[in-house]
Amino acid sequence: MQLRTGIGTDVHAFAQAASGRPMRLACLDWPGEVGLAGHSDADVAAHAACDALFSAAGLGDLGTQFGTDDPVWAGASGAALLVETVRRVRAAGFDVENVAVQVIGNRPRVGGRRGEAEEAMSAAVGAPVSLSATTSDGLGLTGRGEGVAAVATALLARSTG
Ligand SMILES: [Zn+2]
Repeated sequence: MQLRTGIGTDVHAFAQAASGRPMRLACLDWPGEVGLAGHSDADVAAHAACDALFSAAGLGDLGTQFGTDDPVWAGASGAALLVETVRRVRAAGFDVENVAVQVIGNRPRVGGRRGEAEEAMSAAVGAPVSLSATTSDGLGLTGRGEGVAAVATALLARSTG
């Protein structure tokens, strides 16, 4: 069996609190949290996972696959992007073994909803997704509370069929 790993990262800045933009992270809504600005729903966990899947398959990245200017994906949820990413990865001849995602930021506090987030992301991917979270000890853009970052790895196996 031929295995391939991939890596992905993503960062989005917080939107202005007054914008009322909702927080979407790890395929969940986070009521009461200030949302992230950016293309689509700015779900950094989902976007990093997509990048890791494309990376492992040798299919480039989220930007080249979906195009940041393509209106089709402008409002797409992280879950919708993950579903389409996995469809393209499978079409290229790979099965997804697992995906691991780590979120880096001060807010939201991911730990209390880790199981729920893993369930939502695993449902979108169709394979186990594990989620962890950390802070950057007050340093950098995540430590200053300017945004949230995520890093992900994916493991694929070439389909035997
Ligand atoms: Zn993103």
